[in-house]
Amino acid sequence: MITGIPVIDPEACDACGSCVEWCPTGAVGIVDGKAVIVSPRDCYYCTDCEKVCPAGAVKCPFSIVLVQNKPEGNTEKPE
Ligand code: SF4
Ligand code: SF4
Repeated sequence: MITGIPVIDPEACDACGSCVEWCPTGAVGIVDGKAVIVSPRDCYYCTDCEKVCPAGAVKCPFSIVLVQNKPEGNTEKPE
């Protein structure tokens, strides 16, 4: 399931290609002169595209999910 992908502002993107060059999985590409996430399933949210974009066109908004882990093993207290 895809839970989040970078958001690219087409107005700010000047198609320099840096995000395409740096994306380790090929998830982002240039289509019709603008960067787009062409393969969302390949994006693992490393945020490199956001870091290298000179135009500030890429945003990787984070979701922080807190999960309480259950302790493993016997959790009953001894009598
Ligand atoms: S977050 Fe990482 S994997 Fe996803 S598109 Fe950007 S550079 Fe590629
Ligand atoms: S790095 Fe930024 S300006 Fe360059 S192609 Fe990617 S989104 Fe567009």
